Amino acid sequence: MSVFNSSHYDDHELVSFCQDARSGLRAIVAVHNSNLGPALGGCRMFPYANDDHALDDVLRLSKGMTYKSALAGLPLGGGKAVIIGDPASLKSRDLLLAMGQFVNDLGGRYITAEDSGTTVTDLKIIAERTSYVSGVVEGGRFGGDPSPYTAQGVFLGIKAALAFKHGSDDLSGVRVAVQGAGAVGRHLIELLIAEGAIVFAADVNVKHCQLAQQSGAVVIPCDHIMGFDTDVLAPCAMGASLNADSVEIIRAGIVAGAANNQLASNAQGERLLRRGILYAPDFVINAGGIIDVYYQRAEGGSTKTAAHLSNISSSLLEIFTQSAASGLSTVAIAEQLAEDIFLNGLRVKAA
Ligand code: NAD
Repeated sequence: MSVFNSSHYDDHELVSFCQDARSGLRAIVAVHNSNLGPALGGCRMFPYANDDHALDDVLRLSKGMTYKSALAGLPLGGGKAVIIGDPASLKSRDLLLAMGQFVNDLGGRYITAEDSGTTVTDLKIIAERTSYVSGVVEGGRFGGDPSPYTAQGVFLGIKAALAFKHGSDDLSGVRVAVQGAGAVGRHLIELLIAEGAIVFAADVNVKHCQLAQQSGAVVIPCDHIMGFDTDVLAPCAMGASLNADSVEIIRAGIVAGAANNQLASNAQGERLLRRGILYAPDFVINAGGIIDVYYQRAEGGSTKTAAHLSNISSSLLEIFTQSAASGLSTVAIAEQLAEDIFLNGLRVKAA
């Protein structure tokens, strides 16, 4: 395994490995860039096929966090942690305590949070060994779970996209296809239906389909969702749903959803532009969670979270406008704007 030869290595400031034989912990923390502040990002636990996959994932995800926080106007850098192993069989109190010690030993350069494979309960155990943890606020509106805020941000982003494309953000009668009715998708469906949208949802999990239906969504088969005839497609499941094949069958005029790394590659961003489909870059529209997690540690709490979420709409409108003027894809513009903030210090949006 070579860090520097990984195709995902991009001048990361820190890559740290930890092995704790007693608990079975094998983990990697990566800090991509901390020009704007300490690196905050979730701790993912996943049964990676090999160590290289884990390394690639943590390098890629930590870089994504730098771009996300910069455009969200947060004084944070980008970081991420991965624990190698199946959460169902390997996760234990001892392993989580060892992870807490690992994070603590980094002295605050990396602040951890929940991610796929870890829960708020796990984070509370990690917090027994380190204060560099976010997303464990007791008594908060959602008990530390950022998903409702991510959904709120996506909801505002969909409205911004409608306003840009059609001159009105009125959702009544607007048809939206939601791929993935999990933690974020479920809240998004509720917000959309409350404002009069007609929502179609697809999920591989039958229970999640039932919950979506109870909220008023029309459940459709998973293999119909990408090409379903709607105004908006909201990918809220896994990454890379926008690939060379799927971008050709999309009928929605707007793609705006929560999933991380939606584009299999930036070429799909170009293709969406050429097809006249307005794409809201994922790392801009799904920043509600990181905004919430930031304010769980900062003064101001949930009142500031709500106010700060409006940054998502203004950033997207700027990106859409620049994309239309330049002919560059929205994702290319978003990356350029983020680099102007965290690399070139051209615009410091930090609160
Ligand atoms: P989740 O696991 O709760 O929900 C994902 C849902 O997608 C599940 O219900 C799953 O069954 C479904 N799914 C998986 N594959 C599918 C497929 N092929 N077709 C249809 N449904 C499928 O996750 P979540 O927390 O809701 O996050 C959703 C996405 O948003 C993820 O990509 C995540 O990385 C991203 N995201 C989440 C947050 C957050 O605050 N939770 C923040 C930023 C980004």
